[in-house]
Amino acid sequence: MTKTAHPTFWPALLSARDEAPGARTFRFASPERFAFTPGQFLMFHFADDPKTWRAYSLCSSPHAAREYFEVTVGMVGPFSERLGGLAPHAEGGLVVRGPFGKWIYDGSAPHAVLVAGGTGLSPFRAMCLLNGEMGLARKITLCCSAKTPEGLLYRAEYDGWRMNGIDVKEKITQPGAASNWTGEIGRWTAASVFAAANDAAAVYYLCGPNKMVQELRDGLQRIGITPENIRTEKWGDYTELF
Ligand SMILES: Cc1cc2nc3c(=O)[nH]c(=O)nc-3n(C[C@H](O)[C@H](O)[C@H](O)COP(=O)(O)OP(=O)(O)OC[C@H]3O[C@@H](n4cnc5c(N)ncnc54)[C@H](O)[C@@H]3O)c2cc1C
Repeated sequence: MTKTAHPTFWPALLSARDEAPGARTFRFASPERFAFTPGQFLMFHFADDPKTWRAYSLCSSPHAAREYFEVTVGMVGPFSERLGGLAPHAEGGLVVRGPFGKWIYDGSAPHAVLVAGGTGLSPFRAMCLLNGEMGLARKITLCCSAKTPEGLLYRAEYDGWRMNGIDVKEKITQPGAASNWTGEIGRWTAASVFAAANDAAAVYYLCGPNKMVQELRDGLQRIGITPENIRTEKWGDYTELF
């Protein structure tokens, strides 16, 4: 049996922007015939440090993939900070491989419930963009959270997603007196996710820190969601910064 080859490429950084305090979105030029399914990720390393690889999920429109792709990166450690220092159009020595991953959304689930912690929202952006651009009648309920309103990734895009039929629900965990936040406060729990989705037959996608994903998965199963309808992507053993 032949193994599927994952292409390796050296993409040019086209632009970078701050998405939220401590999180930056990078747009790279795509290699020839580049394509991905929302949920997939790429592996990045610097040419002078081939042993240090990091995974970043594709967060841009799959329809734009022939031209460019984007990742949103939390500035949490040495690798992400080096990435954050790259200047558009300069030689950065970045090597990329992929896309990888079977944790995907292709628009076939009648109702997808997407639950993210912090930067875990990034693959869900690609899923929301896919639905909107394909004019899919599929239902998406998006449950996202951040410590502060400013920490909600892609916040300026939510109204556009809502216009495409996506039910975006935000929660803030530490709004602070100065934020004027009038929305929901607190963490997503299995019970609050289930109440927001109101659909025992939906497919539940969970993405973020290990503990958050594990707790939600266990809680959803206790509520009666079947294991095959819970799809998890664990990013590591950390607590959310955003
Ligand atoms: C399949 C997959 C997809 C991923 N996609 C993304 C993505 O799209 N965007 C992204 O920012 N990260 C993503 N990650 C996490 C990412 O690969 C790295 O772990 C992260 O960038 C840390 O690398 P570092 O060298 O900068 O920091 P390190 O020195 O390796 O880590 C510093 C600390 O930050 C914690 N940490 C790791 N990731 C995060 C995070 N996202 N938010 C808060 N704390 C974190 C680590 O556990 C550690 O405690 C993904 C991980 C996996 C497995």
